[in-house]
Amino acid sequence: MNLSALRALPDALLGHLLPTACPSCGREPDVTACRPFCSECFDGLDPWGPACPLCGRRIPGDEVCGPCRLDPPPQAAMAHALAYEGGAREALHLWKFRGAYTLTAPLAGKLLPLLNALPEPLRKAPLVPVPPHPWRLFGKDYHPATLLARALGEAAGRAVHPLLTKRTLHRPQSALDRAARLRNIRGTFAARGAVPGAVIVVDDVCTTGATLREALTVLRRAGARDLAAVTLARTP
Ligand SMILES: [Zn+2]
Ligand SMILES: [Zn+2]
Repeated sequence: MNLSALRALPDALLGHLLPTACPSCGREPDVTACRPFCSECFDGLDPWGPACPLCGRRIPGDEVCGPCRLDPPPQAAMAHALAYEGGAREALHLWKFRGAYTLTAPLAGKLLPLLNALPEPLRKAPLVPVPPHPWRLFGKDYHPATLLARALGEAAGRAVHPLLTKRTLHRPQSALDRAARLRNIRGTFAARGAVPGAVIVVDDVCTTGATLREALTVLRRAGARDLAAVTLARTP
């Protein structure tokens, strides 16, 4: 077996584990870029909807929310493409855990309008993926936030800079409540290299916002003045 055949093997095997029918409507998708979804269901995944432009929290209008007016966050903008439920949850699950890598570019495409809507100082800012746990990369050569940032960078013509590293291990955030997440995440990121004046943090899912807040705070301390964060989905 030659090297390229060997590289193709895991994808081929994973392909057999993926659903053959669209997970949302059950129809067999014809040739679509967003397999296993049909393009209709993929285009119709629930958007996050109207939200505070500073913290991304859902509110009826698009005004700055009360808490952000009282205590402005470090970032100039935070935006989420999808609500992490239903079809979007299924899409992310297939992409992150079941090897539906063909979804990378279509999912990054969901972030493109958010990126293009960011205010002026961030128009050309590089993308900074939230870094993986060091142990997560062990034996696994991909990481969702990095993949997403690269695909988005390619689509938007933006540089991708891995300016954040994780310097200590902490307990998995998913096992903790909000207060415990904030304590757990504090001090885990460090900035490396020359941090430019404007940066955009990219992550796949925002749950409580604790991880993004920490990443943005570290980048601001390292010299970034104009900050934003975009994520593919947020937990309602
Ligand atoms: Zn469908
Ligand atoms: Zn807000």
